[in-house]
Amino acid sequence: MHIKRLEISGFKSFADRTEIELPPGITAVVGPNGSGKSNIAEALRWVLGEQSARSLRGARMEDVIFAGSDGRKPINYCEVSLTLDNEDGRLPLDYREITVTRRLYRSGESEYRLNRQTCRLKDVIDLFLDTGLGKEAYSMIGQGRIDEVLSNRPEDRRGIFEDAAGIVKFKARKREALKKLEDTKANMMRVEDVIHELT
Ligand code: ATP
Repeated sequence: MHIKRLEISGFKSFADRTEIELPPGITAVVGPNGSGKSNIAEALRWVLGEQSARSLRGARMEDVIFAGSDGRKPINYCEVSLTLDNEDGRLPLDYREITVTRRLYRSGESEYRLNRQTCRLKDVIDLFLDTGLGKEAYSMIGQGRIDEVLSNRPEDRRGIFEDAAGIVKFKARKREALKKLEDTKANMMRVEDVIHELT
């Protein structure tokens, strides 16, 4: 599995639709300060479901939409699409190529798509669990991340190894199953109360 392409439109400094092809091997992005290099990495994290505006250097999520520049009006929505090669079937979807898209309007309305089909944020997050590519995953090492990892609590550090070992998915499912069990127990108690009242 590798990232093939990133399409950015209206996101931060990318007012126009920009397509970045990433062939296998090493790709380096170079450019003067403030030219938008970090915005590319942020577009990648954003399309994978990043929910923290602060970690994208903004105050509100709408701050990621192109805010206008000299002689150019602000834009109403932004969209980022990430295309991955899935020839090795590492992502559990029956497609050789998978495109994840996220769109956000200034009104706050947002949308996720997997291969053009509307989906939930949860579907995007679940798809990348244990692949090393989620928004928090170890395949994206941002500035200061190494220091942060080293100074983290051991339990937090363990998360990185759990992701690499492929058990995060099972832990998430266990959490969901336990929650359902709790809800069911509460429902059972309510039913017992009703039966008690009726008899
Ligand atoms: P450096 O080398 O200094 O780290 P960089 O190439 O990584 O710089 P970025 O930090 O990616 O640059 O881009 C910063 C630029 O993006 C700034 O010029 C800023 O004005 C612009 N920018 C950020 N958010 C928006 C937005 N919502 N609308 C328009 N421009 C934006």
